[in-house]
Amino acid sequence: VGSRATSNRATLIPFAPLAEGTRSDAVARRLSDAIKLGLIGDGDPLPAEAELAAQLGVATVTLREALKALRRDGLIETRRGRAGGSFVRSPPATSLQRVRARLRELSADELRDLGDYRAAVSGASAGLAAERGSPFEVSQLADQAGDVADVPGIAGSRRADSRFHIRLAAIGHSIRLTRAEIAIQAEIGELLLLLHDDGAERGRAATEHEAIMAAVSARDGERARPLAEAHVAADSARLIELHIELAGGGPR
Ligand SMILES: [Zn+2]
Repeated sequence: VGSRATSNRATLIPFAPLAEGTRSDAVARRLSDAIKLGLIGDGDPLPAEAELAAQLGVATVTLREALKALRRDGLIETRRGRAGGSFVRSPPATSLQRVRARLRELSADELRDLGDYRAAVSGASAGLAAERGSPFEVSQLADQAGDVADVPGIAGSRRADSRFHIRLAAIGHSIRLTRAEIAIQAEIGELLLLLHDDGAERGRAATEHEAIMAAVSARDGERARPLAEAHVAADSARLIELHIELAGGGPR
């Protein structure tokens, strides 16, 4: 199946080079997004400092400062000695109560706008994945399409969902679409926890992911694109419904 580092382009994205003159806070944000989204799993080692700095295209001192911030936030743990290094610690899920408060504060217009943008990115990604994904990449993601309903726990299910969408963009081999998808997931991933709180919604997501991957596997981009757009639009519609419920009659 290949090593974790080479098995999937999405796993390489967190370490893709940043722009020149990047500051440590941008490096820290990139890595913390990747950890929170589960692109780097709990307990996974980060590459050695010199190697990681080279991959990100930043100075070692900049990376060290970023790692210090991640350590302070409890997102990595550094151990000394022969088996030492920095290891990822996935944060506990945000409380649903806090996520509901955030959803209530967003306006329906903002949610709709975000949904439109998500649909554009997901649709384009699915179309490109059908055209450009390697057979290995496509079959691997097809195997993971149902994870969103199978993995235990709301947070696990949400992370499986984020990972699916980021990998779909990654196998379309568009770095910009993949970065856009990562940014979207980092922005709304938390809100999606509310959908994953509902078993029926998890089932819907799994069925829709599987339909998208059936079209991608058949190399049918014309079918994959609208399926991905409709899937994401259904997520958005459900979030807007929840928002209206919370803003209308919910406890204050
Ligand atoms: Zn999804």
